[in-house]
Amino acid sequence: MLTLRCPCCGVLADETELAPGGTAHLRREGPEASDEAFEAYMFLRDNPRGVHFERWRHAFGCGKWFHAARCTVTNEVFGTYPAQTAAPPEEVLEAIRRRRPEWER
Ligand SMILES: [Zn+2]
Repeated sequence: MLTLRCPCCGVLADETELAPGGTAHLRREGPEASDEAFEAYMFLRDNPRGVHFERWRHAFGCGKWFHAARCTVTNEVFGTYPAQTAAPPEEVLEAIRRRRPEWER
């Protein structure tokens, strides 16, 4: 079972308390975007086998959104951090590199 520590309230929540929100750190396109850029934003996603940055909501807890770095193969969690973070924090990236030396972003 997947468990994630909510960085907002500190609770170690199992997946029955959480709601997935898809890929983290997407660049949202505005009304001035080209059709190709908007199509890429809406429909084209990387679906890597391995390290993935995701959005989660502590739905049956504090209700807040946060981000998690997780391996999609093993469910190993490298870290969680607030959703207001524009890019993964360096300590999360270092945790990934320590456990997955071959990983590249
Ligand atoms: Zn929470």
